[in-house]
Amino acid sequence: MRTPLIAGNWKLHTTPTAAADWMRSLLEDLTDLDVSRVELLLNVPATHLAVLAPITEGTPVQLGAQDVSAHAEGAYTGEISAAMLLDAGARYCVIGHSERREYHAEDDALVRAKVLACQAVGLVPILCVGEVESQREAGEHETTVIRQLGGALDGVDIARSQDLVVAYEPVWAIGTGKTATADDAQAMGAVMRSFLKGRFGPVADGIRLLYGGSMKPDNAAELLAKADVDGGLIGGASLKRDQYLAIATAAA
Ligand code: PEP
Repeated sequence: MRTPLIAGNWKLHTTPTAAADWMRSLLEDLTDLDVSRVELLLNVPATHLAVLAPITEGTPVQLGAQDVSAHAEGAYTGEISAAMLLDAGARYCVIGHSERREYHAEDDALVRAKVLACQAVGLVPILCVGEVESQREAGEHETTVIRQLGGALDGVDIARSQDLVVAYEPVWAIGTGKTATADDAQAMGAVMRSFLKGRFGPVADGIRLLYGGSMKPDNAAELLAKADVDGGLIGGASLKRDQYLAIATAAA
């Protein structure tokens, strides 16, 4: 059984100080949630990790980062390595988010290098894939996603299903209020699962496949009910405690 993963993506929002208050309040509000049935994760700005790590230690809330350097160390001003993120408290790292691909020209080769950088230190990559609107309209959404998966996972191996998470995020649904239908999300989930089985064998049955793109409390239950939607990658709604909790409750 795949435990649903409810992963927030805070993007470029909040300060470490405000995040600490937010997190303490979330932990107080967790009392009614059956945390044995859902995994809680917040992917926060790198500056927040060391502040939030002592607050979340020993609680059901895990921390992740939103990007990582492809390099382990060296003269790369401004970069943050996977080992640094791990040491600061991250357990997961979002890789290849469409905003990184669009605004920072990340291609599949760089995304692959970042997946490998995470794996080298034991940080679990949340590999993001998804088509833009014109690709969906042209009926190219499945080939686009398979091409992205193939490029990012070329030569990558995983020992256990927990070592990789894949997030299907149709770019036209991110931050727009437009959501893929639950059937569309499931159809892509099945396509991705089949690709991953061909690539990794039976271990792929346990890989969590997330849906991301305007997931909110009012559409989460329908999306999460699908067989190959094992959680959500949630931007806007994850900044609002009540909405994040409502989605986690739907998953549990
Ligand atoms: C995201 O940031 O990955 C995302 C899905 O954002 P939103 O939920 O706001 O669409």
